[in-house]
Amino acid sequence: MSKKFDTKKYDSIIIGAGPAGMFAAFELINTNPEFNILVVEKGKEVEKRNCPMEKTGKCSNCQPCDIMSGVGGSGTFSDGTLNLRPDIGGNLSEFTEKESDAWDLVNSVDKVFLKFGAPEECYGMCDEENERLYYKAASADIKFIKIKQRHIGSDKTPELIKQFADYLKNKGVKFMSETNVKDLIIENNECRGIIFSQANGTEEKIYSKSILMAPGRAGMSWINEIVNKHNIDAKHGPIDIGVRVEVPAVVMNPITKINRDPKFHIWTSYCGDLIRTFCTNHQGFVVKENYGDFIGVNGHSLKDKKSENTNFAFLTSIELTHPLEDTSKYGESIAKITNTLGGGKPIIQRLGDLKKGRRSTFERLKRSGIKHSLEDVTPGDLAMALPSRIISNIIEGLEKLNKVIPGVATDSTFLYGAEIKFYSRKILVNKNMETSIKNLFVAGDGAGLSRDIVNAAATGLLAGKGIVKRIAQ
Ligand SMILES: Cc1cc2nc3c(=O)[nH]c(=O)nc-3n(C[C@H](O)[C@H](O)[C@H](O)COP(=O)(O)OP(=O)(O)OC[C@H]3O[C@@H](n4cnc5c(N)ncnc54)[C@H](O)[C@@H]3O)c2cc1C
Repeated sequence: MSKKFDTKKYDSIIIGAGPAGMFAAFELINTNPEFNILVVEKGKEVEKRNCPMEKTGKCSNCQPCDIMSGVGGSGTFSDGTLNLRPDIGGNLSEFTEKESDAWDLVNSVDKVFLKFGAPEECYGMCDEENERLYYKAASADIKFIKIKQRHIGSDKTPELIKQFADYLKNKGVKFMSETNVKDLIIENNECRGIIFSQANGTEEKIYSKSILMAPGRAGMSWINEIVNKHNIDAKHGPIDIGVRVEVPAVVMNPITKINRDPKFHIWTSYCGDLIRTFCTNHQGFVVKENYGDFIGVNGHSLKDKKSENTNFAFLTSIELTHPLEDTSKYGESIAKITNTLGGGKPIIQRLGDLKKGRRSTFERLKRSGIKHSLEDVTPGDLAMALPSRIISNIIEGLEKLNKVIPGVATDSTFLYGAEIKFYSRKILVNKNMETSIKNLFVAGDGAGLSRDIVNAAATGLLAGKGIVKRIAQ
């Protein structure tokens, strides 16, 4: 069946309805209510999206669930933790004149989340406790990053996104969901529109004065193809490789009550690498993350459904130089080896087994005092899959962290692999988020410009401002 869409020329077409795309639409329509804006999203409308976590508390397989795609983007079923800093999950001051402008952007993003129902309460605000934790970490040679955080909760995020999308629709922004953008129309180094395919296979074109690509990590390979095909200036960014760590919630409680998603940065002595904690899910669940060709791991937590465990990602950043600069290829091959060894499932291993150089078995997993929250796993040996440098960083990093969080590095600690954060190629932009192709703008994770909700949203605001300037010229 042929999609109905407005054939008149748009002021802006936004590809992807994640935080980056929606905040760009917000900026555009509030700057000029007369703008014709079309948001094209390959996934479903938020009310039609489905996450098995809601019903079962378990994520047995991400394949049938719309976790990464749809209105709201990949954050829709996430923990909804808003890290209110411009230098966590991105580096906003790269795109602003002054550092204070980057903080202003974060505040603007926060205000929008509050407007659509984010809770008033914030974590990480108690200075005395923060100071004590900062000192304890420093004395263990670990940097603790103080962050103000707002926690929406996975089960509340879809409603917030619905409010946001309804607001945009009421202001006249059009949404075309379940529509996959295939290509861009580029003539004489200027972007003029998009090409998408209909359900019946025919291709359609829509023209616009400006195009914003904000396809997130779900659109990473697509954006890569576009960059190559149209010679858009870009460079390979770093990649984060590691594991998801799961411990009894009581071990993390003293820390998570100070900061829901504590960021510890640890420089290891073996290779001098930085290993960091990331995306902590208090009383949460480890979940599979489906990339199509392979499966990685991630974490969730829900406001009304709790596990007895807390999980967090423990990752090392890797940058590559000639002859293999393509960090995504490197990460993919590690993920694929892990999947092969795990028989198509993530590998789980007890820290004690990893240190002893032996695989875990279901029998050995039972020796841990807790039950692993992701059940569809293969007990195995992560050292067979991850480079030894990463394994050394994990062991050394957890041992150091144990001085700040006693109990985090016992033999019973579960490690799931591989957790890989692909940040796509970083598309080179000016301060207006415009690429080397005129009228073509980018924002968010898919363009390698952010790694979390707040930073993705802030780059969306910047792109919106950039588009306004371009249209005015
Ligand atoms: C399980 C999970 C938990 C997370 N938890 C948190 C958290 O608690 N806090 C936090 O800050 N961050 C979290 N994140 C990360 C956060 O969700 C992302 O950083 C953020 O959503 C990126 O925003 P974005 O707009 O760039 O991309 P996305 O949110 O990924 O949105 C991009 C959208 O573009 C669409 N798209 C892609 N290609 C096309 C195409 N060709 N045509 C049309 N549409 C297309 C996709 O379907 C998608 O809906 C989590 C991520 C996951 C997967």
